[in-house]
Amino acid sequence: MSTKPETAVAANFLRPIVQADLESGKHAKIVTRFPPEPNGYLHIGHAKSICLNFGLAKEFGGACNLRFDDTNPAKEDQEYIDAIKADVRWLGFEWAGEERYASNYFDQLHDWAVHLIKTGNAYVCDLSPEDVRAYRGSLTEAGRNSPFRDRSVEENLDLFARMKAGEFSDGARSLRAKIDMASPNINLRDPFLYRIRHAHHHQTGDKWCIYPSYDFTHGQSDAIEGVTHSICTLEFEDHRPLYEWFLANLPVPAQPRQYEFARLNLNYTITSKRKLKQLVDEKHVVGWDDPRMSTLSGYRRRGYTAASIRTFCDMVGVNRAGGVVDIGMLEFAIREDLDANAARAMCVLKPLKVVITNYPEGQVENLQLPRHPKQDMGVRELPFSRELFIDASDFEEVPPAGYKRLIPGGEVRLRGSYVIRADEAIKDADGNIIELRCSYDENTLGKNPEGRKVKGVIHWVPAAESVECEVRLYDRLFRAANPEKSEEGGSYLDNINPDSLVVLKGCRAEPSLASAAAEDRFQFEREGYFCADAKDSRAGALVFNRTVTLRDSWGGQ
Ligand code: ATP
Ligand code: MG
Repeated sequence: MSTKPETAVAANFLRPIVQADLESGKHAKIVTRFPPEPNGYLHIGHAKSICLNFGLAKEFGGACNLRFDDTNPAKEDQEYIDAIKADVRWLGFEWAGEERYASNYFDQLHDWAVHLIKTGNAYVCDLSPEDVRAYRGSLTEAGRNSPFRDRSVEENLDLFARMKAGEFSDGARSLRAKIDMASPNINLRDPFLYRIRHAHHHQTGDKWCIYPSYDFTHGQSDAIEGVTHSICTLEFEDHRPLYEWFLANLPVPAQPRQYEFARLNLNYTITSKRKLKQLVDEKHVVGWDDPRMSTLSGYRRRGYTAASIRTFCDMVGVNRAGGVVDIGMLEFAIREDLDANAARAMCVLKPLKVVITNYPEGQVENLQLPRHPKQDMGVRELPFSRELFIDASDFEEVPPAGYKRLIPGGEVRLRGSYVIRADEAIKDADGNIIELRCSYDENTLGKNPEGRKVKGVIHWVPAAESVECEVRLYDRLFRAANPEKSEEGGSYLDNINPDSLVVLKGCRAEPSLASAAAEDRFQFEREGYFCADAKDSRAGALVFNRTVTLRDSWGGQ
């Protein structure tokens, strides 16, 4: 990944469609919706749909609804509803009015089901779910009519009323549309409208024991809400004829139109709520907001900004072609944002004590360093005195070729401070270096020593005034570009990167970091971008998460 992407906005094929509909007067105002099923937390794929739906409404002065598609009582939960609302807002969008629920329309949908029965377009079927499947045929083979297809309207009305009253057990009967069992489109082969499910629903309680199908719910909900452009992912393309059949055969108040776009696929990333839930349930990660998760709450805790995710979605664009997006693009978007906006600070991850032997005991100089090289964010104070910490990896007794940091007898600049020379390495009984004795050149504060070139610059913190902290080095959760592809018989779980989290304790942060608040973001110079963990970081017990490395170093380092 050596070519640098650009944060340019890629094409969105729906924008000209919306524009044309407004110009022609087909719609005076557009209405879109984001329709999550509350059965998990939102992930980066959902961000694409959110940016698209809310983005179009915003750009063209329309409205975007948040509608929970809650037709499946078994898998849904209030926790997910609350998390979804928080994530949409965090991403920077606000829905029109109150959030909506497909379950708000259950009465209306029921009445429309009765309407279809009365117009001869629906029937109660007694086939078991397995038999319905067998009768449906296949892609190459037409289906067969259900033996219950020709029941009278009266019988259908009676049976449907009794289904609703709870007379029958789950799966004993269903209500189906009467369309065409020979249709080349399997979705039109008498699809289910209502199934019996004696289940408690998080919104409607125990009012219903029959629940409408997704297909019977979605388009009509759009129509009720006056949605003009109903945007969904490509797997619903084959459902569009059914979506339109319901709109054509029901007295709906509006005629929304469905458009499909390619879903977002990211390499090294899983975007399936079912699998993300498995990662949580089986404790491969610490929770839905684990900083390695592809959930919005995970990215947020990792330190991603909402702006960087919106930028990423703009870069990806909206089309029908699909493909796999390189995760480097998402990392590029967050690096660009943090480079421009995150305060600089120094934090030593593996501290090695340095004593400046020729620096007067008891003397302290308060150095001032800018918080940002380009933006005016003020300065931070950094006390310089006799004892400090550098990173253990910045001193090598036997340096590899091209090593520009500290070596025995060599010189290096301490960032924002003096040039020092390594005079002696103190070792413990096992030969480990535990301290460096150095000397500084008092004429080198902010300028190079005359006649000598000092190439290396390393970061440091004062020994006494720095604060101890924990640093969590996060990396990609999956080591395979396509996590789904594993050795024979394996699953995506086999591709979990065992080094996706490395916890470093006893790190030393510069004094200005002592007051870091939850979610504060920094560039730790030479180390990467970090943020204070929203859950575990406190004054006196700071915890920083690595958001992203300074450069794309995957496979390197
Ligand atoms: P999952 O496969 O993770 O369960 P889903 O499509 O079932 O996802 P929903 O809650 O039904 O999840 O999705 C809400 C909206 O987000 C839908 O309009 C859906 O098309 C869209 N969406 C889901 N995943 C993606 C993705 N990867 N890229 C773009 N849009 C997506
Ligand atoms: Mg879904």
